[in-house]
Amino acid sequence: MSIVMQSLRKTTRILTPPPDLTCSQWANAHRYLSKESSAQANKYRTATAPYQTEVMDAVNDDAVQTVCAMFASQTGKTEIINNVVGYFIDCDPAPILVVQPTIEFAESWSKERLVPMLRDCSCFDGKVRDNRSRDSGNTILHKSFTGGNIAIVGANAPSGLAGRPRRVVLLDEVDRFPASAGTEGDPCALAIRRTESFYNSVIILTSTPTLKGLSRIESEFLQTDQRYWFCPCPKCGEYQTLKWGNMVWPDGKPEEAMLRCEKCLELLDDGQRVGMIKSGEWRATAEFNGKRGYHLNGIYSPFKHKRGYRSRLHQMASQFLEAKHGGEETLKTWVNTFLAETWEGVGEKIDPADIGNRREDYVTELPEGVLVLTWAADIQGERIEAEIVGWGMGEECWGIRRAYLIGDPNSSKDIWRNLSEFAATEFIHPIYGKIRPQIGCVDSGYATAAAYAFVKSQRPAQVYAIKGAKTRLRHPVEVPRRGSRSSALLVDTSEFKTTIYSRLKITEAGPRYLHFPKHYDDEFFAQLTAEKVVSKWARGVQTQTWENIRPNKRNEALDIRVYNHAALHVLNVNWEKLQENMANRSQQVDYILNQNKPESPIVKATPKPAPIFNRPPRRGGFISGWK
Ligand SMILES: [Zn+2]
Repeated sequence: MSIVMQSLRKTTRILTPPPDLTCSQWANAHRYLSKESSAQANKYRTATAPYQTEVMDAVNDDAVQTVCAMFASQTGKTEIINNVVGYFIDCDPAPILVVQPTIEFAESWSKERLVPMLRDCSCFDGKVRDNRSRDSGNTILHKSFTGGNIAIVGANAPSGLAGRPRRVVLLDEVDRFPASAGTEGDPCALAIRRTESFYNSVIILTSTPTLKGLSRIESEFLQTDQRYWFCPCPKCGEYQTLKWGNMVWPDGKPEEAMLRCEKCLELLDDGQRVGMIKSGEWRATAEFNGKRGYHLNGIYSPFKHKRGYRSRLHQMASQFLEAKHGGEETLKTWVNTFLAETWEGVGEKIDPADIGNRREDYVTELPEGVLVLTWAADIQGERIEAEIVGWGMGEECWGIRRAYLIGDPNSSKDIWRNLSEFAATEFIHPIYGKIRPQIGCVDSGYATAAAYAFVKSQRPAQVYAIKGAKTRLRHPVEVPRRGSRSSALLVDTSEFKTTIYSRLKITEAGPRYLHFPKHYDDEFFAQLTAEKVVSKWARGVQTQTWENIRPNKRNEALDIRVYNHAALHVLNVNWEKLQENMANRSQQVDYILNQNKPESPIVKATPKPAPIFNRPPRRGGFISGWK
């Protein structure tokens, strides 16, 4: 192209107002797939994977604050991020932040995705400073462009997450983020906080999920309107989602794999599957409250099968069989990356001594991190056991105090009076002053009438009767309807046991870590780790049951923890807000404390700043995901 032509082209661009495109329209018009990251260097077309369109265009929808995409691998998740970045650089310049799990991921994303895109799409010519120039506006992790800039950071580096405000924040593979960026806390929260000064901010989280109870992307997705791609059967027209349970093939012949319509039961071949996907649409399955969520498993992959397979369905069936053959680890990877579902099998037994070894000397009975207290009680034939638990930011959790009350709950009044006193224990928080447990749950499976009478007697305190459900529930805790015969909360014990056991595997203090004080005895840890999950597979669908594997079957400590979790769930805490409120409150409390030092033995030492607790030793093994 001649110099005259080039400068004419540039002049024309400057004079033309930016076209009013949506993100997907822009991608169709301007995006080329680079040879570095794509099977064929070619023009990008949403028609290839039409489900990407709405996800990208959510950035143009003023009603959407946050977009969450829980996608299988090989469904084009990365192209969505690339297109959003390209769109904002070209059409709506803004400060952009891209967060990858680590700095290494950040560098390779920049080199392998961003730089080739900027090179291969002519719309960026003259907008982004030359990649080869060594001026400060353009490094691997930071690039300036007309009207904005893009920073690419690792979620493990707190320095990259703090700093100037950002209008567009893209969080890629969030389940691989560390629980805490250094000592600064949840990297997602840190990054999202930077959008606060923009009314028109854009936040996107994407990932394949990891462990149930630890998965960030799943816990985000569950707060969205939960959209799934529904597509019409070519035989009967019924709209449905594609499920692994509908994949069929004759024994030992994965090459004959077909997809069965769940309505008319006709068998569909790979071409029909792709046709279905292309005429599908996103449908919300939950209420919208500002967060939009998209889930897509690998059965929706519209891309061509690999060499050596007869069809994509053949490839899917074979890869499943290989994963199953490889044992629990490979099966877990398949569930996460292909089904885009969390893995529930926390199959191995947890050693109580390992957990007991982390007992800490709290400096004060309530460590500084505690923001709210819950309590829960388990009722047995001749005793009541109870525990008060403290919770902080990111559901970091501290065992605080246990009670072992002797007496027959059916006949003894004293035992219930003692429980009432325990539940109302007043603690002195080293920063916030006096606090009492906010909410409590009493097991009503045994001595039901006495438990109900106790709950009633505690009003107006927030105390609930609770019982474990025999089957899996739709929600972790179901609150009884007004006028229903039982007034107990129904709790999905499996759900919370999975959460507790996943969190017991976290070995570094921070969000979701469980702390235990020195005075908890060995029996507590033996009870806490008394169970084990047993998973069964039938037709690619996983079911799990918890089994008590302790010879004497004692597991009260675990049950009480489940009820404490349920109590916290009912409270539905906004942690940021709570911390703010407590800090405001403490200014008044400081004044009172200075005037009149409390003599309670609970307060051993309150010089500030005091170490909050002894950090447990770091153990080997990397735990990924939402710890
Ligand atoms: Zn059908």
